[in-house]
Amino acid sequence: MARHEVALQGREEIAEGTMAFRFAKPAGFDFKPGQSVNVALLEPPADPNSTRRTLSLASAPFEGDLMVATRMREGSAFKRALKALPLGSHVRLVGPAGTMTLHEDPARAAVFIAGGIGITPFRSMLLQAEHDRLGHRLFLAYSNRRRDQAAFLAELQALERRNDRFRLLSLMTDTDGMLNEERLGGIVADAVKPVYYLAGPPAMVQAMKAILTRNGVGGDDVRSEEFFGY
Ligand SMILES: Cc1cc2nc3c(=O)[nH]c(=O)nc-3n(C[C@H](O)[C@H](O)[C@H](O)COP(=O)(O)OP(=O)(O)OC[C@H]3O[C@@H](n4cnc5c(N)ncnc54)[C@H](O)[C@@H]3O)c2cc1C
Repeated sequence: MARHEVALQGREEIAEGTMAFRFAKPAGFDFKPGQSVNVALLEPPADPNSTRRTLSLASAPFEGDLMVATRMREGSAFKRALKALPLGSHVRLVGPAGTMTLHEDPARAAVFIAGGIGITPFRSMLLQAEHDRLGHRLFLAYSNRRRDQAAFLAELQALERRNDRFRLLSLMTDTDGMLNEERLGGIVADAVKPVYYLAGPPAMVQAMKAILTRNGVGGDDVRSEEFFGY
């Protein structure tokens, strides 16, 4: 798999306890929206489990930089080291990798279901779909505990206003309750032959898969990524 040493160009807090990191995109670095990279620190902390993490590319291919985003919470040693890295320092990216990319048939809708920071692959897919003027109908159910924790929400709401092929259901579980069968049914009611894409904490992905299975949806119509550690 390809390896690139890339410079950290910027970092910002994009939601409460959530940071985005931008890296210079190497010449010829091609990826598909939805793919991830393995980010390796060149001078990792002593903790043996802190050298690398797999992170989805939240940036879209048409954008100039590569961006990843992660919840810091109390922060693993890897995340603390990434946060402390001086701008201009290098990390090694291995990849891109991953097969959770948008299906080709525009007659089939895409239903994205994101729990928290599981939004990262979908931001890339949604922005690139708009850029490429894809014909797919796109639905996103995006759940967070609270609004201040919902990364990219304002940008996604603006995208919904611009793009009438895209519909967003954003849910704050502290006040609205969990994403359940009824709410999901509401958002997908007019999704034609949908392909489902799930990303987020393993418990959330499993719960959504169980709902889909109960409704006879499975096989290649459900594609998922579990973000371990959440
Ligand atoms: C394809 C993919 C894309 C991802 N994209 C993102 C992203 O965009 N943003 C983001 O924040 N996170 C993403 N993750 C999750 C990320 O790799 C980290 O696991 C997560 O951020 C937690 O890291 P941490 O350093 O805080 O926790 P850690 O200290 O690493 O704790 C993680 C916990 O998960 C367990 N774990 C790790 N890997 C596995 C595994 N394969 N099976 C079972 N348990 C395991 C560890 O044992 C540990 O208990 C992605 C994961 C995958 C697989």
